[in-house]
Amino acid sequence: MSRRKFKFWGWGYADEQVPADERARLTAHVAKRFAVDGFGAETPPPTVAEIALRPSRIRAPGSLSDLLGDDPEDRLIHSYGKSYPDSVRAFARHFPEPPDLVARPRNEAELIAVLDFADSIRAAVVPFGGGSSVVGGVEPAVTQDYAGVITLNMQRLDRVLEVDPVSRSARIQAGVLGPDLESQLRPHGLTLRHFPQSFAFSTLGGWIATRSGGHFATVCTHIDDLVESVRVVTPRDVSESRRLPGSGAGPSPDRLFIGSEGILGVITEAWMRLQRRPQFRAGTAVRFTDWHRAVDAIRMLAQSGLYPSNCRIIDAEEATMTRAGDGSAHVLVLAFENADHPVDAWMARALEIVAEHGGDWNRDAASAADGHRSGESGAWRDAFLRAPYYREVLTANGIMYDTFETAITWERFHELHARVIDATRRAIRDVTGREGSVSCRFTHVYPDGPAPYFSFYALPRRGAELQQWREIKEAASEALLAAGGTITHHHAVGRDHRPWYDRQRPEAFATVLRAAKRALDPNALLNPGVLVDPE
Ligand SMILES: Cc1cc2nc3c(=O)[nH]c(=O)nc-3n(C[C@H](O)[C@H](O)[C@H](O)COP(=O)(O)OP(=O)(O)OC[C@H]3O[C@@H](n4cnc5c(N)ncnc54)[C@H](O)[C@@H]3O)c2cc1C
Repeated sequence: MSRRKFKFWGWGYADEQVPADERARLTAHVAKRFAVDGFGAETPPPTVAEIALRPSRIRAPGSLSDLLGDDPEDRLIHSYGKSYPDSVRAFARHFPEPPDLVARPRNEAELIAVLDFADSIRAAVVPFGGGSSVVGGVEPAVTQDYAGVITLNMQRLDRVLEVDPVSRSARIQAGVLGPDLESQLRPHGLTLRHFPQSFAFSTLGGWIATRSGGHFATVCTHIDDLVESVRVVTPRDVSESRRLPGSGAGPSPDRLFIGSEGILGVITEAWMRLQRRPQFRAGTAVRFTDWHRAVDAIRMLAQSGLYPSNCRIIDAEEATMTRAGDGSAHVLVLAFENADHPVDAWMARALEIVAEHGGDWNRDAASAADGHRSGESGAWRDAFLRAPYYREVLTANGIMYDTFETAITWERFHELHARVIDATRRAIRDVTGREGSVSCRFTHVYPDGPAPYFSFYALPRRGAELQQWREIKEAASEALLAAGGTITHHHAVGRDHRPWYDRQRPEAFATVLRAAKRALDPNALLNPGVLVDPE
């Protein structure tokens, strides 16, 4: 399994950089959009030597010395997730709260030993999968009540332990990264078919802990749908649910831990539902000049029973920013796939629906099996795959780029869309003194509503990026909540979404969640500040 070192200040491995020509193309494109000549001096990425790291406040006992380490680079790697504010602070060489120690257990016994040690010295423990959180979920920022923080890196638990080809499921350790997971399933002709954009640097346990959303637009959108049973080590006990295809036996024990963001226990393994690898594919890009008609077309598709694997409308602004279009049309990336039978009939019916709503596409290329790799679909796909790496170029050039996402029922979508775009644009203008770019696409579509995903670019004042980002983020989040949306459809709550999550959830549910926390983690060791406050 992969053991390359992660970059501590950005996306990817430490030895990966965006090549100079690609950086130049990207900054030139953004400069053109903002009608500026350039962005001034690019901030070089930080080096380990430049950062004066706070000395570790705790020491590993001899018995755990091969599990717990305080290597400076390792502590830096575990200091932040991968959000815009994380990137700004990394480029500012600002790492005031690194974990004191990083633990890498190889099995449950070692993991329990780490939890026991943390409990004995009153250290907080932050479970860490790939560290791709964009909501402050892995940040070791805790109050003075704790003696220090141990970050629990799960990546040594990286095996597919059993495959059941009859029921088509597998028992998988939680620390496995996406590519390693799929490479272990491939010889069995099976796939988990869960591909978040962060796939390469996120883990099964992280996906379950955050209720991640995969790349596929319909049916099994969230990891929740793929979990057959889950095993969790809590500070109190070990919880393991039965493998069942479904169960009506009271509230679901799995649902207690799916989405628990590391506050109730550490997910160590799960039985996951698998699928055969798809053999049949069809894909194309459909252009719409009218946004409302495009949304109607997608609603019809979502309610048609066709269930496309990709059904992503990208508005004209996002098409421009990602170079998937010239801004003259909204682009629907539409695709079907199946392991059992051809999907041409599905595509043909979908194209009838979009045609009824003014959609237009290249008739010669329609339904090609590799349609998602060419034309506007291909351009957007390339931008999507490279986007995580581009943050380091954008931040280094003083460009603010961030995304946020939600879900809403269809009848309220247009109002939410208008309010959120307006509030975000206004906040960018008020805060930075110039117009920004705010765009929308759908990541997932359900029969009763879409999951809209917003991206924005702005040019903040150098040195004031964090404050200006916070003001824009607050305006956007307030608009989301006021329009009836959720503060997150799949990015999770972490520390950053707490103010809005606290207002969104029913108070009775908050009471139960706090009680569950007290029962399973009585000394509040795990991930303090995420989802609930430590008592
Ligand atoms: C470029 C980019 C693209 C992204 N795209 C998507 C996307 O398409 N869909 C999506 O849903 N999200 C996306 N995200 C967000 C992020 O990747 C997801 O939240 C992902 O599920 C986190 O997995 P991870 O292994 O990196 O977890 P981490 O970031 O390490 O942890 C996330 C949270 O889960 C907890 N945790 C981790 N492992 C465990 C465990 N074994 N047991 C208990 N708690 C645990 C942590 O304490 C933390 O609270 C994206 C992020 C980035 C930076």
